[in-house]
Amino acid sequence: MAYKYELDPERCKGCGLCTAVCPKKVLDMADKVNSKGYFPAYQKNPGDCVFCTTCCMMCPDVAITISETEAA
Ligand code: SF4
Ligand code: SF4
Repeated sequence: MAYKYELDPERCKGCGLCTAVCPKKVLDMADKVNSKGYFPAYQKNPGDCVFCTTCCMMCPDVAITISETEAA
């Protein structure tokens, strides 16, 4: 099974919750603001993501989506 991870920087308000809960320390905060003036989270270490969905469940702004993709 393959998964696709998407974090919409425009929905993110930079609360940092996802970076705090990620068990693999995948996420970090960007150093450039989005159009609303927030520093959005991003996957700094995407190769370490285990698609546990913890960050998705924690995000109050539903900025993160993990979806199944068809296996190659
Ligand atoms: S899905 Fe899990 S491992 Fe991947 S970034 Fe989110 S909390 Fe971290
Ligand atoms: S939990 Fe959501 S709103 Fe907060 S920093 Fe992460 S992606 Fe952005």
